[in-house]
Parts: sequence; C-alpha cells; structure tokens
Amino acid sequence: MSVRRDKGHHGTATRKLVEEMLAALHLPGMRAAYEECVRTALQENLGCEEFLRMLLERETETREARQIERLTVQSRLPHGKTFETFDRRRLPPGTARMVEALGDGGFIDRRENVLVFGNPGSGKTHLLCAIAEEQVRRGHSVLFTTCSLLVQHLLAAKRDLTLAGALKKLARHEALVIDDIGYVQHSRDEMEVLFTLLADRYERGSVLLTSNLPFSQWERIFKDPMVTAAAIDRLVHHSIIVELNMESYRMAAAQKARKASSNQPEPTKEEKE
Ligand code: ADP
Ligand code: MG
Repeated sequence: MSVRRDKGHHGTATRKLVEEMLAALHLPGMRAAYEECVRTALQENLGCEEFLRMLLERETETREARQIERLTVQSRLPHGKTFETFDRRRLPPGTARMVEALGDGGFIDRRENVLVFGNPGSGKTHLLCAIAEEQVRRGHSVLFTTCSLLVQHLLAAKRDLTLAGALKKLARHEALVIDDIGYVQHSRDEMEVLFTLLADRYERGSVLLTSNLPFSQWERIFKDPMVTAAAIDRLVHHSIIVELNMESYRMAAAQKARKASSNQPEPTKEEKE
C-alpha cells in the first residue's frame, strides 16, 4: 500500500516537474498532450521511443497550426473567399483543370505569377483569394492588397525615402495578391512605383493579380507604351493566365432569386387579404 502511494506521489511530482519544464522550454503542444500521452502509453504499453514520438508529433502539429493561424492573419485575405464557398462548376472545364493544378503550390516554388482576367462579377477576386488561401494552408506566406492601397502605400514610402525598405518587406511574402489592377485610374507617379514593385519581384516572388482590363488596354494603366510593355513582359514571362469571361455571378444570383420568387405559387385570395 505505502509503496503504491509513494509511487503515485512520485508520479504526480514528476508530472508537475515535466509540465513546468515543458512550459519553460516553450513546448505548449507537448505540455497540453503530456497527460494524455502518458495515459495512452500506460494503457497500450508503449515503449519510450514510441511515447517520445507521440509527444513530439503533438508539438509539431501545434506549431504548424499556430504558424498557419499567423500566416492567415498576416495575409489580410478577405474572409470567406475560399474554395469551400466557391462553386467550381461555374468554371469552364479547361479553367477548372488549371485551377486544380494550381493547388499543389508548385507555382509559388517556381515563383510563377497567376493573372486572372474577366469582366466585373465573374469571380476573379474570389477565385484568386481561394487559390491564395489554399497556399496559406500549405504554409506559404501570402499578402492580399488592392492595387489602389498598394500604390498609395508605395507612393507614401517613396515620399518618405523608404521605398527600398517597403519593397523589402513585401518581398518577404512568397505571393503578393494585387486585386483590381486597372480598375481605378492612377497618376503617372503611382504607376511608376507599381512598375518598380513588379520589376523588384520579377523572378523573386509570385504576383497574383486580377484585372478587368485585357493587356491590350494596359497602356491606360501604365500611361507609357514602353513601361506598359516592360510591365507585361515581366508579369507574363513565368505565368499562368486564367480568363474568366463569363456572366457575372452577382447578376446570375439575382436572376435566380427573381426566378425563384416568380415560381412561387400565386398567393390565394385569402392570403392576399
Ligand atoms: P470580380 O472580382 O470578378 O468582380 P468577385 O470575385 O468579387 O468578382 O465575385 C462577385 C461575387 O460573386 C462575390 O460575392 C463572390 O463571392 C461571388 N462569386 C463569384 N463567383 C463565384 C463562384 N464560382 N462560386 C461562388 N461565389 C462566387
Ligand atoms: Mg474583384
């Protein structure tokens, strides 16, 4: 009896000590899983190697989950624009296959760009955000921004003589999502910094962008034919181009809603009154 009690007491003291050390060593996953792993090991008669593997696995999982949480917050991707809420059946088969192939994240490793074109409402932003979110979940560092915010940010940095630093910070992200390039008319100064950014990222990091303007109209964005050609050249060199020229999703949804309401049985005379 007394031996058992001693043993039990010893076990509790050991556990407390181990948990304190795990906390001091910043191993929260192992700490949280420790008790459960000890129990499992005793129940299933696991050897010490197996026990250690189990604990380390839990720490690894915890770290990966926290890293992805951090990357998700940092990405500034809009909420809910993921593949879970994206209807892939709306994509033409060729495009759907292309999007499927992007899922493996190889394009980020190869520093390729993804350029999505299409009319307003075709789903460009949603699709690109879904692609980007998929990559965040794979552990890649992504930053979402609109073209307008980006140029404002870069221009302010240029005025403060900190453009180099701003570009360096952006370069830390493996993929930069630039939404709606060409949607708002920008000044020459603004376009100059945008060009500087694209040149800086060329072959160094992926650019994912959406535009409702085809390349043939990009002179309206960059103002100067030479700069336009140079920008397009750098973007296209290693790129995957997705064309979403389809009916607006918003329009289709509105039409569907209207149809559904007109298909409702006519209210009876009593209901009308
Ligand atoms: P764009 O950027 O081309 O103007 P958005 O991506 O903003 O279009 O899409 C417009 C709206 O329609 C958004 O609310 C978006 O979530 C939705 N949407 C577009 N395509 C799809 C789709 N295939 N499945 C689900 N929702 C979609
Ligand atoms: Mg959009």
